[in-house]
Amino acid sequence: MNGPADRRAPATHSGHRGLVMEEPLIFEQGAAGRCGVDLPEPGAGGDRLGGLARKGPIGLPGLSEPQVVRHYVRLSQKNYSIDAGLYPLGSCTMKHNPRLNEKVARLPGFADVHPLQPVSTVQGALELIHTLAHWLKVLTGMPAVAMSPAAGAHGELCGLMTIRSALEAKGDARERVLVPDSAHGTNPATAALCRYRVDAVPSNARGRIDLAALKQKLGPDVAAVMLTNPNTCGLFEDEVLEIAQAVHAAGAYFYCDGANFNAIVGKVRPGDLGIDAMHLNLHKTFSTPHGGGGPGSGPVVLCAELAPYAPLPYVVHGKDGFALVETASDQSSAGEGRSYGRMRSFHGQMGMFVRALAFMLSHGADGLRRVAEDAVLNANYVMAQLKDDMSVSYPAPCMHEVLFDDTFLKDTGVTMLDFAKAMIDEGFHPATVYFPLVVQGALLTEPTESESKESLDRFIGSLRFLARQAKAGDAGRFINAPRLAPTRRLDETRAARHPVLRWRPPDPAEAAE
Ligand SMILES: *Cc1c(COP(=O)(O)O)cnc(C)c1O
Repeated sequence: MNGPADRRAPATHSGHRGLVMEEPLIFEQGAAGRCGVDLPEPGAGGDRLGGLARKGPIGLPGLSEPQVVRHYVRLSQKNYSIDAGLYPLGSCTMKHNPRLNEKVARLPGFADVHPLQPVSTVQGALELIHTLAHWLKVLTGMPAVAMSPAAGAHGELCGLMTIRSALEAKGDARERVLVPDSAHGTNPATAALCRYRVDAVPSNARGRIDLAALKQKLGPDVAAVMLTNPNTCGLFEDEVLEIAQAVHAAGAYFYCDGANFNAIVGKVRPGDLGIDAMHLNLHKTFSTPHGGGGPGSGPVVLCAELAPYAPLPYVVHGKDGFALVETASDQSSAGEGRSYGRMRSFHGQMGMFVRALAFMLSHGADGLRRVAEDAVLNANYVMAQLKDDMSVSYPAPCMHEVLFDDTFLKDTGVTMLDFAKAMIDEGFHPATVYFPLVVQGALLTEPTESESKESLDRFIGSLRFLARQAKAGDAGRFINAPRLAPTRRLDETRAARHPVLRWRPPDPAEAAE
């Protein structure tokens, strides 16, 4: 039995389960000629399309308004979200997004301005960008920040392009970038995109970068070292000062992947660690919503030496108020640096800037520090509670996330993927699995500061139960998981190799058979 019916949960007459509705595609529901609105017939207008007018029907589904509303509400009810429950991904920081942020981001003075408006009409919006930039510099202890990058990966690109520009300006062509083997995939991808050769540095038995191996790989052809701190094993790189020293002694720049800044915000300033450039994920550290392809925001803080090469445009404050430096000639007439140009069309993700500043100002200095402390405390609580039932990869205090490997599943017939799928039946989004690659069968989870002890206890209880069931020989629970979700385990290989991305109307010949 491999048909689609096999992937569905146990049959009901309607296909619905409890009050969760089975929902066909919107195209499968449409009927020709049905419409949700009553529009007047278009008047006779001239044809301005020349020979380019469409010849056939457009193929939109015909639906009434209630059908459309129900369709999207039913889909939304199947969509697990941070507002519905704990979202235990590791390396992604899925935390509560305060409603206050949403409220201020929707104020018309922020939400309805256009990037091409005259700057005299958007002084408040520019002031907000400038103020947020100020606090990012204060929190990181860095003198400059590029605000425009649209995500963490985009920030990495900005950082390495800035480093490349600075090196080229010195006539110092370097061709290698060192990246630890535990790094997020965006790090080597970014270095490769900037035409650098990526050289992986191994981790040591403590889950940190191997300092001796790093020193050995450093040389006059190394442009930068990209380090994540806290790293993707959830550990603080405690030799970071020595790393910075070695990197600088080799004439290279020290790039930090700051996606995990939420674990140290208010506690450590990256500028004090010798870091030259670091992106911040506003959508991880400062609570702006993300996931599902939603907008991210990845400002990059820079040391004084790199600052002149930062991308355009940027906000400046002078005696006439706030202004944008938008072109190379603006920049040279201001007697400033030599930017490599733009990373994107305009100055960045305005809505995310508003949310991030709202989060910072509502928390204050003490609150932001507490964000880091509680995130770390919660991860260590999860580790302490589960250490006897699951295998903790690096059994020492962790930072904001905890890494398990699949040793505890040895000889159970259950893989870490099966285990993650069984979490769905328990009402949890699966944790991150098989990342980072430095341990066998990884499960990485980050509870964040926004979970209560009760919520953590329910999560811990479920994972403990699942670990014990696996060890007790109940492999069936896992291999067929999820059993209770509207859609059962997918054939992921087939989905990846033969993705069906487009709906086509059923072939009338086939339908007549
Ligand atoms: C999330 C993440 C990134 C990439 O950030 P995006 O905003 O998703 O592009 C890079 N590195 C690490 C360690 C991350 O966790």
